[in-house]
Amino acid sequence: MDAEIIAIGSELLTPYRQDTNSLYLTERLNHVGVEVRFKDVVGDRREDLVSIAKNAIARADIVIFMGGLGPTEDDLTRECVAHALGVELHRDAEIVAWLRARFASRHMSMPDNNLRQADVIDGALVLPNAKGTAPGQWIEKRIGASQKILMLLPGPPWELKAMFEEQCVPRLRTSVPPQVIATRLLKIALMPESQCDALVAPIYKRHTEVETTILAARGEIQLHLRSRAATQDEAEARVQVLADELLAELGDFVFTVGNDTLEKVVGNLLQQRGATIAVAESCTGGLLSQRITMVSGSSAYFLGGAVVYSNGLKTVLAGVPAELIASHGAVSREVAAALAQGIRDRCGAKIGIGITGIAGPSGATPEKPVGLVFHSIADARGTDVLERTFPGDRERVRLWASQQALDMLRRRLMHS
Ligand code: ATP
Ligand code: MG
Repeated sequence: MDAEIIAIGSELLTPYRQDTNSLYLTERLNHVGVEVRFKDVVGDRREDLVSIAKNAIARADIVIFMGGLGPTEDDLTRECVAHALGVELHRDAEIVAWLRARFASRHMSMPDNNLRQADVIDGALVLPNAKGTAPGQWIEKRIGASQKILMLLPGPPWELKAMFEEQCVPRLRTSVPPQVIATRLLKIALMPESQCDALVAPIYKRHTEVETTILAARGEIQLHLRSRAATQDEAEARVQVLADELLAELGDFVFTVGNDTLEKVVGNLLQQRGATIAVAESCTGGLLSQRITMVSGSSAYFLGGAVVYSNGLKTVLAGVPAELIASHGAVSREVAAALAQGIRDRCGAKIGIGITGIAGPSGATPEKPVGLVFHSIADARGTDVLERTFPGDRERVRLWASQQALDMLRRRLMHS
């Protein structure tokens, strides 16, 4: 079954408030085998709400309205949904009594406005609100040939979650045909999105039973696979078959099947190999060290290192000969190698990493453009240097340089 989620509230159309409830609902709906086909955000305007409610009821099996169940004039959800369904509201005496008792227990008298919260759509089941004053409503109704489920839930996240979890999920499980969704996530470092898509599209297009989404951000591509089936085994088998085919095509471009970060994957490899590292960073200014130490337990393999921005410190802290810098320039293959070797020696690490480059926007020369970065790894087997020119602004160049160094290290460790 498919769902549509409608977030109601004019504040959600400003830059100051976001609809986060739908993220939670989507996760929970997927868990019981319901796919979300539409999400809408609508302000507190009667005609807009009625029109979106009519659309949603016509096209989705399950429609979830959230927000606008409060006591004020702009809380219109109850009446607009009733209107869209062509049914009436009635005032529920039990809710009125419950509301009065709730106010009385706090030694407050209830404003008449709050009576609106006792208005129930004809045919709806009332969902008590353990955390607030706005009860929810659950409606099952045959419309045309199809059986629809509608929910009205309160907007405050803690109220919505409690109500959905305790009262809606169990009801959904009995109404929704048993379906499970299996997912796989493949992460790829440093491949252009178009190149990745060219490789994988012919494969995933053959697997129409699996939905594949490609997301690219921050030097990483994520391939999200999802499949729905009647049983867990069937759904798992479908995503596994596709994941295996993709892995065979992409090989070691895939750094993880799962949600680990690149720095975490590299950390695991370092730990398995019993290796230690030290880094000498110029243009990344400590970003690589920061990323490596984001991982809890990184002290097992990360010794430390130095941010060697000036030429002087490249010599003093990482032992790069001053003549080398003078003859090749600080941003050079030779200096990158010397940074990796020097920091490895000085720190007594098994592996040394050096990064030097031009993050921009200033500092470029005709031979050395903005984005040019040399990455180096030194270990007992020898020293490698990788030259890359990254497009983009300063932040992007620095991020990609750290990403490249991590990926270079990952490959080195995988093949050692
Ligand atoms: P009540 O007025 O009784 O608190 P309500 O159902 O009318 O409940 P709203 O007034 O619409 O709810 O929202 C109450 C609070 O919940 C606001 O702070 C609002 O920003 C937040 N909220 C509403 N909808 C969402 C949403 N979709 N995601 C995250 N927060 C939301
Ligand atoms: Mg509101």
